[in-house]
Formats: sequence, C-alpha cells, structure tokens
Amino acid sequence: MRLRNNPKAYDIMKENKSFVILEPENCKNKWKDIFGNNHPIYIEIGMGKGDFIYENARQFPEINFVGIEKYPSVLAAAINKINAREEKVNNLRLMHYDAIELHQVFEKDEVDKIFLNFSDPWPKSKHAKRRLTSSKFLDVYKDILIDEGNIEFKSDNRGLFEYSIISLNQYPMDIEYISLDLHNSPESEINIMTEYERKFCEKGPIYKLVARYRK
Ligand code: SAM
Repeated sequence: MRLRNNPKAYDIMKENKSFVILEPENCKNKWKDIFGNNHPIYIEIGMGKGDFIYENARQFPEINFVGIEKYPSVLAAAINKINAREEKVNNLRLMHYDAIELHQVFEKDEVDKIFLNFSDPWPKSKHAKRRLTSSKFLDVYKDILIDEGNIEFKSDNRGLFEYSIISLNQYPMDIEYISLDLHNSPESEINIMTEYERKFCEKGPIYKLVARYRK
C-alpha cells in the first residue's frame, strides 16, 4: 500500500504513544511487561490501515496484538482510523518497522502467531526476495515464533499464493490448511476482513493457507 507522504506521520506516532511503539528494539524480551499480562501475542506484518488487527483485538481481548507496517504514512492512517473508532481496545500496539528486522524486536518464543494479509506480490522474479513469504523472511519469523506457532496467509493474488505454497513447502514448513475460495468456505463465517480483502473479494477468489515450521 502506498499513500501520499504524510509529513505529520511521525508526529501522529508520537502523539499516540499509548498504543504506538516508538522504539521497537527496546521491547525485545519485554512484551509481557508492555501488555501487563502473559497473554499470547499475535502479530500482523504489513497491517496497512489496520482494520483486521483492530477487529481482532476487539473480538479477542485475551490475546495481545501487534501491528507492523513498513511505511510511516500508512501507519499514521491506521492510527487515525483506530482513534476514530468508538470502542477502544487495550490489547493492541502498532509500530513502524521493516519485517526483515523483526528479530531485533521479538525474542524467540515471544510471538504465538503471524498474520500476513494481502502482502505485496512483487511479480517480477528479480524482486522475489522482497515477498514476505520468501525464505529470508521465513528465517526471521522462525526466529521469533514459538515452536507450535503458525503463519496465516491470505491473498487475492494467485501468483503470490502459488509462490508461497512452494516457498513454505521447500523451507520446510507444513501447510495445515488451504482454501482456494475462502469466502465460499465454512471459514468465511469467522473470517475477519482487511481493507484489501473488502476491495478485491468481488473481483475473484480469496486464497488462504495456514502453515507451521517442520520440527
Ligand atoms: N494487510 C493490509 C490489507 O490486507 O488491507 C495491507 C495490504 S498492502 C498490499 C501490503 C502492506 O504491507 C503495505 O501497507 C506495505 O507497506 C506493507 N509491507 C510491505 N513490506 C513490508 C515489510 N517488509 N515490513 C512491514 N510491512 C511491509
């Protein structure tokens, strides 16, 4: 997601430090203190404007959620959207950070689940390493996830989905669930939509998989 540069993005982050993490590296190994409890931690990488992670935090108060977004202007848009919501949540934190560095922010076993929703497809093969399901990123996720943890990935992009199945399989990870048409599957009843999903679900199927690192 690209938004016009918002020159106030950093100010918006600073004004919302009750739920925006300004120095993510200082949180490593301290997430239980930050949330004030030892509930599981689920993170969404590339959270965009945050509809999915906010709604998860609202529906599941016994889980802590951390939304991670690479671009400050996108994060600022998410902060504004969350502030505009009537219902406040205290189990949600957001940060501006590049996923490739997440081992600087979370210790091994600090994360219980990772969501990747509608990640940028980077269709040219010369950009394959930028895909959030490429092996470089899978190394990072493995470093922070508990052994029983899993990755949930949704996409409308058939090419990225096929690439991801191969990449996860080769890593090796086991794919435990797969849907080639999430919105017409029984799981659609509990599915929480993202901004992209709402936009693209009319145009074609939504794909989903859940994968776990092989021991
Ligand atoms: N998840 C949202 C949704 O489904 O509506 C946004 C999808 S958008 C296509 C992908 C998002 O991932 C963008 O906001 C982009 O800035 C973010 N992103 C891409 N690479 C990233 C990275 N390495 N670390 C963190 N966020 C990243």
